[in-house]
This record gives sequence, structure tokens and C-alpha cells, in this order.
Amino acid sequence: MALDNVCPKCGASVPEGAQFCNACGASLTGGEAPAQETVNVPPPQPEVKVIKKVVVADTKSVLLAVVLAFCFGPLGLLYSSITGAIVMFIFGAIITIITLGYGAFILWPICALWAFFATRSHNSRLRREAGEDA
Ligand SMILES: [Zn+2]
Repeated sequence: MALDNVCPKCGASVPEGAQFCNACGASLTGGEAPAQETVNVPPPQPEVKVIKKVVVADTKSVLLAVVLAFCFGPLGLLYSSITGAIVMFIFGAIITIITLGYGAFILWPICALWAFFATRSHNSRLRREAGEDA
């Protein structure tokens, strides 16, 4: 019968009396198939530690941001918020011209405040992305 010469698994024709299919290796006698290629893949290492390291590296020091902004104004603000630095540069230039220089005194505290909130939101966003609710 044709059944004896055809692999029950893949349908390839096999020589009579063969124990295993030449095409797919399936057993033709009802026994166990020859050992399949088992690739021992080690389980993936948990990446929690790696993520935490990245968070530590990318979070910014709120204190440093405020000190920088307080000392250098818009220039120090570059550390915590580039957008803030650009806005404060333009805003500061206008205020300084209008107030003949006196307005610069209120700019520095504003920069420090901006640095404080920008850094805090930056850090809490990073922690949220890492799955740690701040
Ligand atoms: Zn086969």
C-alpha cells in the first residue's frame, strides 16, 4: 500500500522499511522521533537593574538646576530646560531694555523657579517611564 511508503507527517515518499522519514525525521514505526534540535536558550535576565541605572543617570539634580539658574540666569536654565532658557533670554532682553537694567533682578528668581519645576517634572516623567511612581 501507498501508505507504507509515505511519511504520515509530511507526506514525503520514504523507502520501504525505513524507520524514520528522510524529509522531516518523523517516526514511521510509531516510536519516538529522533531527538529534535533543542536549543537551550537561557531565560532572559531581568532588566530592572539596568533601567534603574538609566534613571539615575538621566535624572537631574533639582538643587543644581536651581543654583545654576540663580547664578547664571537664563544661561543656567539651559541645564534644566532649553525651552525655558530661550524664552528667558528673549523675555529677559526685553525686560532689561524696558526697565533700563533693573528688571534683571526679577529675572533671576524666575529662572530659578522655572529650573526647579522643569527639573522636577523632568525627573518624575523619567520615573513614570521606568514604572516607578514618584
Ligand atoms: Zn516526513
